[in-house]
Amino acid sequence: MTPRVTRLAPSPTGALHLGNARTFLINWALARRSGWRIVLRIEDLDTPRIKSGAAEGIVRTLRALGLDWDEGPYIQSHDLSAYERAMQRLAREGLAYPCDLSRGEIEAATSAPNQGDHEQRFDSSLRPASAGRSLAFEPGAANWRFVVPEREVVVDDAFAGPTRQNPARLIGDFVVWTRRGQPSYQLAVVVDDAGQGVTDIVRGDDLLTSAARQMLLYEALGLGPSPTYFHLPLVRGADGRRLAKRHGDTRVESYLNAGVEPGRLIALMARWCGMGSPDHLTSRDFADHFDLHTIPRADIVFSESDDRWLRGG
Ligand code: GLU
Repeated sequence: MTPRVTRLAPSPTGALHLGNARTFLINWALARRSGWRIVLRIEDLDTPRIKSGAAEGIVRTLRALGLDWDEGPYIQSHDLSAYERAMQRLAREGLAYPCDLSRGEIEAATSAPNQGDHEQRFDSSLRPASAGRSLAFEPGAANWRFVVPEREVVVDDAFAGPTRQNPARLIGDFVVWTRRGQPSYQLAVVVDDAGQGVTDIVRGDDLLTSAARQMLLYEALGLGPSPTYFHLPLVRGADGRRLAKRHGDTRVESYLNAGVEPGRLIALMARWCGMGSPDHLTSRDFADHFDLHTIPRADIVFSESDDRWLRGG
């Protein structure tokens, strides 16, 4: 039987904070308990947001928490050829087209408000005459968009349960190649997951609506069955917004630098996974006791008392 494979896929846009560290820890623990191989992949294609040195910092932090992997790190920006081949195929099959409309022009033509994420919805009425025709892919000054079919996609999430999504309504023709000369997140993640043999994806549920888009790309690229998805609730601040800088310094490395033991951080994440009230836990202990079914379904709230507890108060 071919082994199951998962990936840790950080974007080096900043340091790991407690929220994304928890997702990585769960992903790692599921893999180690289930005998899946782990690939480490650095997703550094979102150039404007990438911070120099962040990838190295994330790798250091993952190691400090006791996480390991079997392959990688693979760095997306090092080789764009597989993404280009995927674009050639989409363009040849009439499934992608260049589009140089500005944000304002797209906004003006879009009746429904944007939902789901921060991406702009692109109405099919904006498609140029070339959409649907076989084209030669040329990375140039335009974005390339994927021709999103008008239909529902069922994402049968192994944690969140089944959802029906209609990417045509939610987001429309999304960008697969950017005018900066790079694949978009959606395209890169599908090409890499397929190319690296990934069978199981564990990530935050802010990406649940991306799963339907990614499944459409799997189909369009003839990449076989899409992976099994586990979308987990996010960690939020007391104001209900997802954990970020505005909630103070929740970077794992800041706690480590302040002398907080990795075992204390893992114990907090275990508490957040419904694993009782441990005071100290290694990553191994976490993997041994971890159970997907005890993870609360609701978002986790990180509060000042968690911060005090971490610091021994
Ligand atoms: N690199 C993405 C992130 O850090 C994760 C992408 C994914 O898991 O599909 O948000």
